Amino acid sequence: MNRIKGLRCRECGREYPKEPLHVCEFCFGPLEVEYDYEVIKKLISREKITSYPTNLWRYKELLPVDGEPVSGLTSGFTPLIQATNLAKRLGVEELYLKDDSTNHPTLSFKDRVVAVALSKAKEFGFDTVACASTGNLANSVSAQAAVANFKRYIFIPADLEMGKVIGSLIYAPNLVAVKGNYDQVNRLCSEIAAKYNWAFVNINIRPFYAEGSKTMAYEIAEQLGWRLPKHIVVPAAGGSLITKIHKGWEELKKIGLISDQTESKLYVAQAEGCCPIVSMVKENRNFVKPVIPKTIAKSLAIGNPADGYYAYSVVKESGGFGEVATDDEIVEAIKLLAETEGVFTETAGGVTVACAKKLIEQGRIPRNEPIVICITGNGLKTQEAVADKIGEPIIIEPHLASFEETMK
Ligand SMILES: *Cc1c(COP(=O)(O)O)cnc(C)c1O
Ligand SMILES: [Zn+2]
Repeated sequence: MNRIKGLRCRECGREYPKEPLHVCEFCFGPLEVEYDYEVIKKLISREKITSYPTNLWRYKELLPVDGEPVSGLTSGFTPLIQATNLAKRLGVEELYLKDDSTNHPTLSFKDRVVAVALSKAKEFGFDTVACASTGNLANSVSAQAAVANFKRYIFIPADLEMGKVIGSLIYAPNLVAVKGNYDQVNRLCSEIAAKYNWAFVNINIRPFYAEGSKTMAYEIAEQLGWRLPKHIVVPAAGGSLITKIHKGWEELKKIGLISDQTESKLYVAQAEGCCPIVSMVKENRNFVKPVIPKTIAKSLAIGNPADGYYAYSVVKESGGFGEVATDDEIVEAIKLLAETEGVFTETAGGVTVACAKKLIEQGRIPRNEPIVICITGNGLKTQEAVADKIGEPIIIEPHLASFEETMK
């Protein structure tokens, strides 16, 4: 019996084979990987998982790859940090950071989705991979596709941070900078994907790519001792990660890996200058109104989120909420996280911490229940966001008197 049934349309339920497809021919709904959980139940146990290496493939029975993975063998299983200093500052009892700023190899949560997408692209027999990226995906596809011996075409908006550009170029991909925002890059890539026989990780391979995000949910549950937090704050760009965290936890309940039936509340975090999903949540509106992004949180700057509706739905169904952060609040939150927990996150992490702080202050997240904040990227990639807002070094002459002068 195969644990992977195939693909299914999220709208009309029509079934499709396991192929590089992503939209339903009948209703244009997105396709999703479907599993046979009765089969998976027999293949998996807590003991088995904990005996596997500490990377995201320890959950391979729940991922849509049939053979041996070719990518991501060092990705995932990032630290879950109990953030006692930050908890004190925010006035809460039990706070954790899921720290994907240290994910391997390219220091963001995108190493998870790319690990699965490239392993699947290899199984499908592609020799070229591509992506439309807000930055981190570009880094991860560039790096992991080099190792897995793919030709690689990476499309980014032309105004990305230097760290994200260099962090792609170093792996020698074909890096194409498009004069436009992400939504324009994505539209162009859909045309290219229709014409060239490439594995576009977030277009024609998207159903498989998206499954990689579930590993963040599995790890959090395992690292909490096979329990779920009461509350989780998740940043959203296209809205896939937050949707898949929900799916991952529901799967763990379904196959009996967690007995705890905690209904976790999901909170979506976005920048004020690009918050199409948060505004749906706040206005109780079940459709996306696209926006033109204007924010320093470039990795979250998707004005027309592909999974906007599904992200909205999981937030609403869980009883969670959403919040936004201004550019100034993002910078303050990056500094707060660094000074309290020693974690230097990128602008997306600033968004998440700032939104968590607001939700706690508003009383939306109670102070006495366990909270997880997802830190999804590394601050060394977005240095221009904070460079002129963190003071300067004290410059001295190389002798004691000069140093002591500064002590006065
Ligand atoms: C891509 C990304 C996200 C969220 O991505 P979704 O498109 O919502 O799945 C969050 N944080 C960072 C740093 C990212 O690069
Ligand atoms: Zn359909």
